[in-house]
Amino acid sequence: CGVFGAYSASGAPVLEDVYLGLSALQHRGQLSAGVAWTQGGSVHIKKGLGLVHEALQQNELAEIEAHAAIGHVRYATAGGTERENSQPLGANYAQGPVAIAHNGNLTNATALSSYLANRGAIFQTTCDTETIIQLMAHQPSTVQLEALENALTKITGAYSIAVLFEDCLIAARDPWGFRPLALGRRGDDYFVASESCAFEIIGAEFLRDVEAGEILVIDRRGVISRRLPITAQRLRHCSFEYVYFARPDSVIDGRSVYAARKNLGACLARGGKCPQNSIVAGMPDSGTLAALGLAQEAGVPFEAGVVRNRYVGRTFIQPTQRVREAGVKIKLNPQPGIFDGKEAVIVDDSIVRGTTAGRTVSTIRGAGAKKVHMRIASPPVRYPCYYGIDTPSSEELIAAQSDIEELRVKIGADTLRYISCEELCESIGLPREELCTACFDGGYLDEEESGGRLEV
Ligand code: 5GP
Ligand code: SF4
Ligand code: MG
Repeated sequence: CGVFGAYSASGAPVLEDVYLGLSALQHRGQLSAGVAWTQGGSVHIKKGLGLVHEALQQNELAEIEAHAAIGHVRYATAGGTERENSQPLGANYAQGPVAIAHNGNLTNATALSSYLANRGAIFQTTCDTETIIQLMAHQPSTVQLEALENALTKITGAYSIAVLFEDCLIAARDPWGFRPLALGRRGDDYFVASESCAFEIIGAEFLRDVEAGEILVIDRRGVISRRLPITAQRLRHCSFEYVYFARPDSVIDGRSVYAARKNLGACLARGGKCPQNSIVAGMPDSGTLAALGLAQEAGVPFEAGVVRNRYVGRTFIQPTQRVREAGVKIKLNPQPGIFDGKEAVIVDDSIVRGTTAGRTVSTIRGAGAKKVHMRIASPPVRYPCYYGIDTPSSEELIAAQSDIEELRVKIGADTLRYISCEELCESIGLPREELCTACFDGGYLDEEESGGRLEV
């Protein structure tokens, strides 16, 4: 998912900024989009299914006189695709209006929601995010900021959130820093966004990342930084953001996504020579930058050998295997003539179910390539993600079911090469102890690290 928040100390209307910011975060979720603002002491929400421009009316939003607002684009992880699970979620409870937009997955949401339901909470959604609002509302005499901070000490897992109160915007990031969150400024106006790429479009400058375990309180007086009372044993920034999820023009936790992707490709080049008479092509868009990095490092020609239909969204967003398979065909086609008699070195960011890679190899062969060498700019994805990326269960993860040679045979490639977890971290430029690599190596948060805060 993607979250965005805006606060104008000069009282300027911000909903159009939120709309534009969400458009720049569209790659983080295409299922639904929504915005929330407060007016006259209560929370107002507009949301709908689909892309930002389908779900929201820009001209309507531009006319709303609200100087603080949040927004969300959704990619389904926890909860189904139904309309009531779209965000922001909002409520007017005893202490005032609250709205929240969340990116990440809470790992103790089930335990918390049964605890709360047993004490009278009536859940409106099946979305883990609602437990945060319910936890706040179950502290009847506590002021909102304190209630939110208390609620955050009870949840575990991944959250980068933008929260709106009556006249105040809050941004917070879990103690591990799983999902990105950035702070930006334009004059007296402050913005928070899942990725720094959302600031460019509204003419704001990127100030810094929100730190892991940090809570920013933004109001008329400016920005105040507070700390969650919990500290993680170590950071766990999601490495998959750099591999695939984030936009390449974003900088996350001090590291450029663009540079990381090119480095991943260069790593692949150093891992094994490209054959004589080969050309390098990336699977658009996710494999393009790694392919460029590989080609530059190896000194082999880079070709835009695969053409992408730009009106078809990210393959993996499609819910069923049948649509997913059709999706690959609809989306990617070889450039005629380019592969004739060549050895094709084809780069993609990752193999999940193996659908894309299998189709790609047969397509490139069909386009005349003598050999097809698949190069994957990440380690094998062998474990599901519980922190906000929608990887399927191990049974569906092809690299969890087969070793690399079996996988090569299954996808029909002449050779298949991945990078290691060490190379992944080096390419990103952060120490391994600061990155989450759980979907590659199974190194999840253990119970001790999650803090055992299940009791409320
Ligand atoms: P596959 O066809 O192997 O299931 O999916 C691999 C393709 O899906 C890659 O091209 C990659 O860009 C994209 N993909 C990246 N991340 C994810 C993810 O988290 N889940 C899924 N299902 N696909 C992803
Ligand atoms: Fe990112 Fe993988 Fe960790 Fe999930 S398990 S947070 S996708 S690195
Ligand atoms: Mg892809």
